[in-house]
Amino acid sequence: MIRIRKRAGLAAAAAIGLATAGSLAIPIPRIRLSPLPVLSLNLLDRDGRPLREVLSDEGGRSRWVGSPDIAPDVVRALIAAEDRRFPFHSGIDVFALGRAVGQALIGGKVVSGASTITQQLVRNIYHFPRTLPSKVVEAWLALRMEVTLSKEEILVQYLNRVAYGRQAYGIEAAARFYFDKPARDLSPSEAAYLTALPRAPGRLRPERDAAGLRRRRDAILRRMARLGFLSSDALGRALSEPVRISKNVRDFRAPHFVEYLLARLTPEERESLAEIRTTLDLILQTKIERLLDGHLRSLEKKNLSNGAVLVLENATGAVRAMVGSRDFFDEAHDGQVNGALSLRQPGSTLKPLTYALGLEKGMTAATLIDDAPSEFGSLEASFAPENYDERFHGPVRLRSALASSYNVPAVAVLDLLGPELLFRRLRDMGFSSLQKEASFYGVGLTLGNGEVTLLELARAYAALATGGLFRPERLVEAAARKDGRMQAVPDPPPPARVFSSAVAYIVTDILADHDARIPAFGYRGPLNLPFPAAAKTGTSKDFRDNWTIGYTPRFTVAVWMGNFDGAPMHNVSGITGAGPLFRDVMLLLEEPGPGLPFPEPPGLVRVGICPVSGDLPSPACPATITELFIDGTVPDDTCRHDHRGAPDSASLRVAGRTSDPVRIIFPADGDVFKIDPVLRPEYQTLRGQARIDARPMPKTVEWHIDGVRTAVVGPPFAWSWKLRPGSYTIHLRAIVEGKIVESRRVKIRVLT
Ligand SMILES: [Zn+2]
Repeated sequence: MIRIRKRAGLAAAAAIGLATAGSLAIPIPRIRLSPLPVLSLNLLDRDGRPLREVLSDEGGRSRWVGSPDIAPDVVRALIAAEDRRFPFHSGIDVFALGRAVGQALIGGKVVSGASTITQQLVRNIYHFPRTLPSKVVEAWLALRMEVTLSKEEILVQYLNRVAYGRQAYGIEAAARFYFDKPARDLSPSEAAYLTALPRAPGRLRPERDAAGLRRRRDAILRRMARLGFLSSDALGRALSEPVRISKNVRDFRAPHFVEYLLARLTPEERESLAEIRTTLDLILQTKIERLLDGHLRSLEKKNLSNGAVLVLENATGAVRAMVGSRDFFDEAHDGQVNGALSLRQPGSTLKPLTYALGLEKGMTAATLIDDAPSEFGSLEASFAPENYDERFHGPVRLRSALASSYNVPAVAVLDLLGPELLFRRLRDMGFSSLQKEASFYGVGLTLGNGEVTLLELARAYAALATGGLFRPERLVEAAARKDGRMQAVPDPPPPARVFSSAVAYIVTDILADHDARIPAFGYRGPLNLPFPAAAKTGTSKDFRDNWTIGYTPRFTVAVWMGNFDGAPMHNVSGITGAGPLFRDVMLLLEEPGPGLPFPEPPGLVRVGICPVSGDLPSPACPATITELFIDGTVPDDTCRHDHRGAPDSASLRVAGRTSDPVRIIFPADGDVFKIDPVLRPEYQTLRGQARIDARPMPKTVEWHIDGVRTAVVGPPFAWSWKLRPGSYTIHLRAIVEGKIVESRRVKIRVLT
């Protein structure tokens, strides 16, 4: 440590004025100057792979060190880089301040750099906001600190508190973390390098911004030489010294998960524990990080910069993967924000829980709900929901309403039940983000007007997956204490029943029903997995958030995509957004093949019904479909619907108009598709869906693109087309009773 004389500082302090002289003699409270708490933890994944070594006192990694344990070059580098008049000023640097004010007057903006080491220390201890009044208080405290502490004490305080990135607080921690050596053994080059870190934009990823950090090191070394701290020989040696970063820096895995876990530990746990084996599967985590990056890369043009993925093991609540953002170290896109814990509007993802309550209150999957223009709410605050496809579909069975995610039926059901019921159930399922009263959200709660987190959604879906049992998430498998004993990990509380197993099973059956969601997602949508899987997508207002959450019997996967600054995406829908990533994560978790079926609880029956009325079929009904009922809720009535003349007319009403006899149900007019090099080829194929209600039914239908016949197909009249960039007009053409019948034209765009 260099010796620093204090006479100049004291003289300047005296000159500040007698008025403040008395107050400056008040010592800075001891508690403010006490060493930082010590962290000492080794965090491992479920199989013992290292995630992060949190600074350990026993390894000397965050020990508070005095000046004998700090290499003199550390102090010299600090003074050269931050405050070269530190040995002489009295806490504020009048020269630097004058220069900054001058620059501000000439340039019209405040140039930083006028802060002395003492002022920076004050800021570090007190965390003032950056306002003018707090700058004055800061200056006063800096003067006071200079009066009551020695220059050496100030330097020791400063060097033990500075954040060097990666949770390394203090010079000793930084020296051990970045260079595997104590601060006393740092070379001039290493001292300059560490001094550059706290302000360097690349400090969070020195292994990637090596050139930038090296330039900063070199600049500090040259300044040290100019101030006479380094001989020209020593400067030459230091400049040519390679930077050898320790491998600790690279062991910084699953950062959002680790931060989340650390934040949940009590201070006692942080101090007493030596090792925590977590629930995380690092191999899975790393694969999902890569998948997220790949999908976002392909969606950059859609103004989509971020995403988050959670994987929960249903039976235990164990978090197997938590990817909170695309890149933790990307400061430009707030990479340190954990997207799994951020508040977002959930779009349609709460609808399954709304319908589960409907089933609980006596509705069935066959109950007809009218999808028609309606107003809900009070006179003062009424609203008229619309569907994603901007059409109404008439009376629809609950199964279709949920699978196709129509808005009006979801609101109608919640209106019937009362929003209070959904609100209370959500709170029971750990949705603590919903902080307002139920009346604040109203029936819009089912359309996602309340902000929730991806983790809350994932837990709720995991409860559906396990037959209605809610479990809080688990992060820890086992823990060892510093004294060598195992720390007992408390047994998780018994799961809470939030839905009956029969209700949960019916909702699962609907969410896993490929056929029921064809109108919304097409025949080969990304949710159509090669094993039993339930899934629901959601898109918040103006495309700000895109969600897909779903589960197999074993795992729940929750995916969010969007921007942390809330900027809207450009037309990202189920086929391009979170859905394909959800699919790829599911394919990592489960083997293709028959897969595990969802275990069916007792008390359910399968009964044939009329698809139009949902009642028991009569001879006049056009078809019979099988529906799942809780025993005792099978409809009593036989269908009395008039099926003659206009077949299925009730379920085909389109925004009040009668239906066309030949029409395209997928794609919809205005749909935009994106060809995506990262995705599997099956997403690159558009599978057109037709609905033919003409009688007699034609044997074939022609698909036309831009007026050119492209395919002639028989029932069920679907058509596969490999996507090519461009704008197209598609229509259908059929011959019915010798007359040409054409569908409405549907315009689509295909982007690369
Ligand atoms: Zn019928």
